[in-house]
Amino acid sequence: MFELNEEQRLIQKSVHEFAKKELAPKASYWDVHEEFPWDLVKKMAEIGLTGLRLPAFYGGMEADLVTTGIALEEVARFDHNCAIILCGCNITGKLLLHGSETIKNNYLPDIVKGRCILAFAAMESEAGSDIRAIKTTAKRMKNTYVVNGEKSMITFAEVAQGFVVLVKTDVKSREGISCIFVEANRPGIDIQRLQGFGWRATKWGNIALSDVQVPAENLIGEKNSALSMLKPTVQEQRALTGLIALGTAKQALGEAVEYAKNRKVFGKPLGKFEGIQFKLVEDFTQLQAARLTCFQALHLIQKNAAEASKWAAMANLIGGETAYRVVNDAMDVYGGLGYSRELPLERYLRDIKAIQIASATLKMEIGQGILGKEFLPYT
Ligand SMILES: Cc1cc2nc3c(=O)[nH]c(=O)nc-3n(C[C@H](O)[C@H](O)[C@H](O)COP(=O)(O)OP(=O)(O)OC[C@H]3O[C@@H](n4cnc5c(N)ncnc54)[C@H](O)[C@@H]3O)c2cc1C
Repeated sequence: MFELNEEQRLIQKSVHEFAKKELAPKASYWDVHEEFPWDLVKKMAEIGLTGLRLPAFYGGMEADLVTTGIALEEVARFDHNCAIILCGCNITGKLLLHGSETIKNNYLPDIVKGRCILAFAAMESEAGSDIRAIKTTAKRMKNTYVVNGEKSMITFAEVAQGFVVLVKTDVKSREGISCIFVEANRPGIDIQRLQGFGWRATKWGNIALSDVQVPAENLIGEKNSALSMLKPTVQEQRALTGLIALGTAKQALGEAVEYAKNRKVFGKPLGKFEGIQFKLVEDFTQLQAARLTCFQALHLIQKNAAEASKWAAMANLIGGETAYRVVNDAMDVYGGLGYSRELPLERYLRDIKAIQIASATLKMEIGQGILGKEFLPYT
């Protein structure tokens, strides 16, 4: 049976208290002003959250994936955008571990200290779900690579000090894809800001790369093998973002339950009516089932189990969809007040929608790939 150990319970409690005290009061501010919360990133760094998955050599915590999930879930209860930032720090940080010593030494300690954020740039206007269709190229010229192309809808585009960019290094093959690190201050980079429905503190944008020269040692991992290198990282990201969505939904459900206990209609508390009870009880049940799926996925990814890919996909799918439903129901319980911007519910819903949309690739993959092949082997 899945159970948190003593150390994980302590981490859950301390991150909960930290996030409630330090993150919750300003969560709405960053959303309304669309600002990146640098001062909170530094505070999260002080308690080790920005380097949860990174090696101790660079100042990281070397936490296992389940512990990382526990921490991110608690952060997401009080500030969804901060949880997305932490997920980004840990995911791009782990990708850099495949890079040169110079890149690791230049960036990993700063990520851990909350002074640096990197973006992962894969998507292009004509290559979203079909990621092998990317057109951005990196051409080798003696000791450099010259990068040309456009990346779309990239989280942290405007604030990142560097980008881990997915590029074609063999234009004749759909698999000829590599990862290359591009420092944000190199000549030839143009960033165009995008405004999104949710994730408003994450400085979303398009990145144009025109004859950008980077040293050949900026290649991350082996040439033409980015897709296999990315596999475990993508699995982690899927399961963790599922849990982030559920953390936000858990908070919404707790608030709705309190409201149902206190709000009186027709002479008695709202929660005394079965219609409301059934909705809240069903949401609680679905939420717990989805959380367990995410933790199971994290456990299997950590073990490098054969079925990890399938569970990561399921975790992301059930996480996003359950969270959306739970927050939507919480809004209904609050009635007109739930729709108001006085309450955080509309922000929760917008942020969770970002997880659902950003995972569109995943739905396609589930439909056609990972799960489709398993359940419908003849298609
Ligand atoms: C908030 C946000 C943040 C993002 N951050 C990043 C980032 O940091 N880095 C990055 O690289 N990208 C990022 N993205 C881009 C994201 O990865 C893409 O939006 C996603 O991969 C889907 O691609 P697309 O938008 O081109 O949709 P499309 O590929 O055009 O798909 C459109 C719709 O069709 C469906 N679909 C596609 N193919 C099939 C099929 N074969 N069968 C059935 N249905 C199908 C999809 O599920 C989707 O609903 C972000 C997106 C969002 C919304």
